[in-house]
Amino acid sequence: MTIQFSNHMPEIVANRRYLHQIPEIGLSEFKTSDFVAEQLSTMGYEVARGLGKTGVVATLRNGTSRRSVGIRADFDALPILEETGAEYTSTHPGVMHACGHDGHTAMLLGAARILAERKSFDGTVHLIFQPAEENFGGARIMMDDGLFNKFPCDAIFALHNDPSMPFGQFAFREGPIMASADECKITVVGRGGHGAEPQEAADPIVAGASIIMALQTVISRNIHPLQSAVITVGAFNSGIASNVIPERAEMKLTIRALDDNVRDELERRIRLIAEAQAASYGVSVEIDYERGYPPTINHKSETDYVRQLAMRFAGGEHVVDMPQPIMGSEDFAFMLQERPGTYFFLGTAKTENDPPLHHPKFDFNDDILPTGTAFWVELVEDYLSSK
Ligand SMILES: [Zn+2]
Ligand SMILES: [Zn+2]
Repeated sequence: MTIQFSNHMPEIVANRRYLHQIPEIGLSEFKTSDFVAEQLSTMGYEVARGLGKTGVVATLRNGTSRRSVGIRADFDALPILEETGAEYTSTHPGVMHACGHDGHTAMLLGAARILAERKSFDGTVHLIFQPAEENFGGARIMMDDGLFNKFPCDAIFALHNDPSMPFGQFAFREGPIMASADECKITVVGRGGHGAEPQEAADPIVAGASIIMALQTVISRNIHPLQSAVITVGAFNSGIASNVIPERAEMKLTIRALDDNVRDELERRIRLIAEAQAASYGVSVEIDYERGYPPTINHKSETDYVRQLAMRFAGGEHVVDMPQPIMGSEDFAFMLQERPGTYFFLGTAKTENDPPLHHPKFDFNDDILPTGTAFWVELVEDYLSSK
């Protein structure tokens, strides 16, 4: 570890715990946004507000170089009732920082202060504090509000804490690192009737069951064996009585892919199968297919760059390449579609079996704050090096 900034740590820990106490759901992070913006203003940043409703972009220029770099921290929380028992537990009942975005924000705020004090770079740094990572795609909304037009970035970077990875380990992956996440609701519309007179009805449950089974063939028969994808039918609801054939059946799917072509093929096949199966049973389907976050695809040269930096910063024994992507999703994916950059993980394990992300007992590991903060400082000062 090259730099520690231990004199800044009490403030950074205090910020993290304060943010933990005021968790807010995506696009309503009003207190969080105010807190972040006020801190950044006092540090001397130009602070822009209102991108993505509650988003904050803080800009600091130094020297004469036209180079620029963007770092993003997400700051929204989750609808979870906290069970950590921490003295700084959530003061907003039913809302909780269970994904560690309080830690991401505290590290970037800490780096902001240190960068402003040292002024040891040549160029422009844009610190992007983003709302609504968990639900509404705050990244996309900030971009629709002109993020990269108003704040051009040569490259962008973001990290996520990972309590399942060894403490202090950096994990990188070139290409896809997280999956797309799409949703589909299929409503099978049949003709209800008496359970003893099936010949007079068009049973949406049997047709729905057949659709669900046929969907299992999409991954096994239509997608290349070396490509990855997921179709999960997470809900299938219909009927209430044993002797009544209902009118409708409804199913809800989550669909994941690591590649845009695979993603398109999944949608095409799901629609086709649902419609063709339905027709064969004499029922119809209404399909509501919603595209969510795209696959998160890391760019090669920025990934190589940050991996090299982490090797120097933390030592090779603390740097790994992820053998596989994760089938979860992340809206930094939208930003990586427009700007080169990379998204990576920082291991934060305390014990063998820490509560996972999104668990009511999850608590961001404050011991990693010095590492994450110092790494952002190192990245900005190296990327915008005057040498
Ligand atoms: Zn999360
Ligand atoms: Zn998260």
